[in-house]
Amino acid sequence: MESFVYTALPVRLVFGTGTIVQVGAELEALGCRRALVLSTPEQAADAERLAQQLGLAGAGVFAGAAMHTPTDVTARALDQLRSTETDCLVALGGGSAIGLGKALALRTGLPQIAIPTTYAGSEATPILGQTKDGVKTTQRTLDVLPEVIIYDVALTLSLPPALSATSGLNAIAHAVEALYARDSNPVISLLAEQGIAALARALPRIVANPGDTAARSDALYGAWACGTCLGAVGMSLHHKLCHTLGGTFDLPHAQTHAVVLPHAVAYNAGHAPEAMTRIARALGCKDAAQGLYDLARSLGAPAGLRELGMPEQGLEQAATLAVAAPYWNPRSIEAASLGRLLRNAFHGCPPEPV
Ligand code: NAD
Repeated sequence: MESFVYTALPVRLVFGTGTIVQVGAELEALGCRRALVLSTPEQAADAERLAQQLGLAGAGVFAGAAMHTPTDVTARALDQLRSTETDCLVALGGGSAIGLGKALALRTGLPQIAIPTTYAGSEATPILGQTKDGVKTTQRTLDVLPEVIIYDVALTLSLPPALSATSGLNAIAHAVEALYARDSNPVISLLAEQGIAALARALPRIVANPGDTAARSDALYGAWACGTCLGAVGMSLHHKLCHTLGGTFDLPHAQTHAVVLPHAVAYNAGHAPEAMTRIARALGCKDAAQGLYDLARSLGAPAGLRELGMPEQGLEQAATLAVAAPYWNPRSIEAASLGRLLRNAFHGCPPEPV
């Protein structure tokens, strides 16, 4: 065994079906008395139901969470929070609701209970991305890591099949990049393989039958495993490209991950052979990049950036931005090769080694 460093993150995990009834008990265990429930507008009814379930322990609902955690939304939530006696944040939803919980925790020091309903994985990371005046900045601090995660499989049944597919591929991307991270370690690599395998097994069944509770349960477990990878080790080219494309061209988060992943993996394949073997093994296929592309096609995920509204003339700018401030990557980042990768991703071609 080679030497390695692994930092375990302090988090309490409750996993199951119908676990939402345990929010009150978890609140009490944290020593808290009144929780503000956070959600996006689309999940306001679920948030209201949870606040009612909490009874006197509910400090109200703020249902204005939005993608990429805009700071003006956080400021409005903070105003509402300060007008109540809130001593805990409960975020119900995907990465947007959980991002708002993290932004409020950063500003108030309040503890958080995250109840994820997508597979994005933010609940398991000490990472917060925030957007101010159209510019997204990301920071890593334990101050934003939720203390408790409650996974309730029942809450994921309503996630539409298309979003389930792209959100699941977004999760797989975390585990894929963890396998070739500079600070990879055997604990996280094991979890990464498990996470990829669980999602690759579950997603086709979910797309075929969104009410398949066994598949939903596997996918949610996979999402936790992949989110834990994202929280534990550094990410590389794939995440850099997705942040650049999302931030500069306002492309949708999960869908962009779904399109770019096979191409980023093909780019790195020759420089991370062990990771490729493990990804392929988890997918049950011969070639990691092609396997990811085939999985995405079989799930009906968008194939090309073109379908997501990416302007073709922006490809060169995206390559330049990604080269200008690269994340560490197993293969050096070259503008010409990146340009080719992005053109392939734009047109939705199968991945090719570049
Ligand atoms: P999201 O939270 O924006 O959710 C997308 C839509 O689906 C929303 O309208 C939401 O209300 C709805 N939805 C969520 N769960 C549902 C369900 N079970 N049933 C019906 N509708 C449901 O999307 P996301 O992809 O989960 O999160 C994206 C955001 O999270 C981005 O801002 C991204 O940057 C961030 N993110 C952060 C991290 C991190 O570690 N900091 C990790 C991953 C994603």
